[in-house]
Amino acid sequence: MNKSELQQHDRDHLLHPFTDFNDLGKQGTRVITGAEGAYITDIDGHKMLDGMSGLWCCSLGYSRREISDAIYEQLNKLPFYNSFFQCTTVPSIELADALAEVAPKGLNNVFFTGSGSEANDTNLRIIRRYWDLKEQPEKRIVISRKNAYHGSTIGGASLGGMGGMHKQFQALDYIEHIEQPYWFGEGGELSPEEFGIKAARALDEKIQELGPEKVAAFIAEPIQGAGGVIIPPESYWPEVKKVLDQYDILLVMDEVIFGFGRTGEWFGADYYGLQPDLMTFAKAVTNGYFPLGGTMVSDRVAEVIKSRGGEFAHGYTYSAHPAGCMAGLATVNILRNEKIIENVRDNTAPYLARRWAELGDHPIVGEARSLGMVGALELVKDKNSRARFDDDCTAGGVCRDMSIKHGLVMRATGDTMIIAPPLILTTEQVDELVEKAHRALDDTAKAMA
Ligand code: PMP
Repeated sequence: MNKSELQQHDRDHLLHPFTDFNDLGKQGTRVITGAEGAYITDIDGHKMLDGMSGLWCCSLGYSRREISDAIYEQLNKLPFYNSFFQCTTVPSIELADALAEVAPKGLNNVFFTGSGSEANDTNLRIIRRYWDLKEQPEKRIVISRKNAYHGSTIGGASLGGMGGMHKQFQALDYIEHIEQPYWFGEGGELSPEEFGIKAARALDEKIQELGPEKVAAFIAEPIQGAGGVIIPPESYWPEVKKVLDQYDILLVMDEVIFGFGRTGEWFGADYYGLQPDLMTFAKAVTNGYFPLGGTMVSDRVAEVIKSRGGEFAHGYTYSAHPAGCMAGLATVNILRNEKIIENVRDNTAPYLARRWAELGDHPIVGEARSLGMVGALELVKDKNSRARFDDDCTAGGVCRDMSIKHGLVMRATGDTMIIAPPLILTTEQVDELVEKAHRALDDTAKAMA
């Protein structure tokens, strides 16, 4: 099929995730046909630096044969077996071992799933089971944050705080949302540090309002990813930690985006010095090569589930898929052997931070922020007042299209441009990314004038 035939068949038969089908029908899909290193290529031969690592998952880029070979070899040896009914497989044991080694201290147990959404549903099941077995069944409520993203299953979407999603389904009634630590958008006249404290105190206020005896857990991404790369002020996490330490409430870190090196540490929890009770992962665990996710469970929680409970009635056919586990093992080995995360921490991330910050001088950029290998640009009409171009956030869409034209994949969340490029980027590729982003900003400024 040629390009237009492919687009027609796509329109006729494929329902895309998070897509306005009318818009898609008008514009046609971009058909991606190949990838190499940090670049993807479309059917017209247009090569683009992938500033989003696929969907935050291909942290090692697209050319790691060790991972695809590991999957292939496993498929030829034992393509599937489940881990129900007292069965296990060698890859699942080996990956569980490796994850226990790299995860923050005390997280030595893993429940595997096929995705991040399933992993967060698993968290909800574990949280309830834990408090029931501790004979505190009144602890039912999970606190999350507005504009958080925790997946698209009913559990994941209920935990998430995306208004647009909540309009389209009936959320679970035991999840509450507090404000997010989004200083640029919501900080008003407060300094970032003051605002970080205020946003953290919102957790304390919510716990007081609900009654600490009713609150089971608090879930958060270390940095909100899909919400717009919202990097909390430095005061935020230490204050949240103080609040949680006062009460008997579980901390669930959703590391689906930040796990496996994106901050320059193995996990966001390491970066912020936090000790979660549960920790969601997916995406980069297999470098995006195989659908695999899971939750790391602390000894404290696992002990209760293992020793007191009888059967834990939860699981997925593809929990601990052997080929996925081999992909995970190959990925963790590359990260370890090639010291990819240390290189991000010591070299690439500081370089990206310096170069990315220069974009803050652009006339339509209200803030350029980055941490590790993520970054965001706030597009504004007026730098002082932070006023946006319009209520519909059209600048973001324009900038995304300009960026693609210039050979760079950036994502738009409203009028916030975000990047999460592969961890393997060279400093020359960082330069290329920043230069292409600059050209996209110039064109956006012209188009929005
Ligand atoms: N949690 C976070 C923080 C995510 O960013 C995502 C996906 N973007 C998920 C959960 C859901 O993962 P999946 O799409 O694999 O279900």
